[in-house]
Amino acid sequence: SAPPTSAVIKPINKGVVHRICAGQVILDLSSAVKELVENSLDAGATSIEVALKDYGEEWFQVIDNGCGISPNNFKVLALKHHTSKLTDFLDLQSVTTFGFRGEALSSLCALGNLTVETRTKNESVATHLTYDHSGLLVAERKTARQIGTTVAVKKLFSNLPVRSKEFHRNIRKEYGKLISLLNAYALIAKGVRLVCTNTTGKNVKSVVLKSQGSGSLKDNIIQVLGMNTFNCLEPISISISDSCSVEGFLSKSGQGSGRNLGDKQYYFVNGRPVDMPKVSKLVNELYKGANSRQYPIAIMDFIIPTKACDVNVTPDKRKVFFSDESSILQALREGLQQIYSSSNANYFINK
Ligand code: ADP
Ligand code: MG
Repeated sequence: SAPPTSAVIKPINKGVVHRICAGQVILDLSSAVKELVENSLDAGATSIEVALKDYGEEWFQVIDNGCGISPNNFKVLALKHHTSKLTDFLDLQSVTTFGFRGEALSSLCALGNLTVETRTKNESVATHLTYDHSGLLVAERKTARQIGTTVAVKKLFSNLPVRSKEFHRNIRKEYGKLISLLNAYALIAKGVRLVCTNTTGKNVKSVVLKSQGSGSLKDNIIQVLGMNTFNCLEPISISISDSCSVEGFLSKSGQGSGRNLGDKQYYFVNGRPVDMPKVSKLVNELYKGANSRQYPIAIMDFIIPTKACDVNVTPDKRKVFFSDESSILQALREGLQQIYSSSNANYFINK
């Protein structure tokens, strides 16, 4: 073919840029709902309901009793990179909220139809807000509601043809992924009631997940994963360094979760659910030495100074960089080896 000739370089249309980028924040159903649940947690909610219509294919809503959104914010709420959580780049080193990039609502606008109902303690009635695909507020009316916020998204991905096809084809798989992600939040959030309901075509609404919002990880595990599962776990506390530790629960050696790799493994950094492939690999490898037939259940929260880790690696914030990853992994290896060593009777209930 002919060699390329230098064509005119021109800016991409703003709306197109918006859609391209939005698809990186909101990858699938679970990342969409994750953003909304995180917003509810950031708003101090103690009760969160995730309501799905047809497993999320038709619409999903996240209903909370958090602080609500004040009327001055209605216009800018869904604009790209508008956030109440971060103002300076340096804030990134100490950010403790789940969100900080101001991209979720704007991305959801770009990829579906977004409406919000909200009320703060300063208003006597709530407001129903409708946004367009560019994040502009296009309609506003009064409505009745308790203090808090409901964000609803209809027809996710309807304007990204390829993603939309995938979404509809894989909806049950996406739904499964969502439930396991919601489990992660239900496990780690203390004092937050989390409920997920699904309404199917014939308007049959069923509760698919329910946690009471207890104050401890132990009680959350019992509620979310069940007493039988809890009884197969041992608490762990591994000191990694002066300022870093891992707290959580692991399967006893004779009582792993089964054959599926990592389907009951939950990793957190300072209470933020994240993907940790290297840690998961290590946990599975060391568990193999004690129990070759199964994979372990793992619920592990890495408590680490915010300045020693970076969660701003990917737009969905599921990946983390540690400033000293290799020594963390080494200390973890030693800690786990000790736990699964034959001298530790708790982990060898079969012997
Ligand atoms: P970020 O969470 O990174 O700030 P979002 O796009 O997710 O960006 O949300 C934008 C802003 O909207 C938030 O900073 C917050 O002020 C407000 N907001 C979103 N969801 C809620 C909610 N459920 N309750 C209260 N405020 C919310
Ligand atoms: Mg957010």
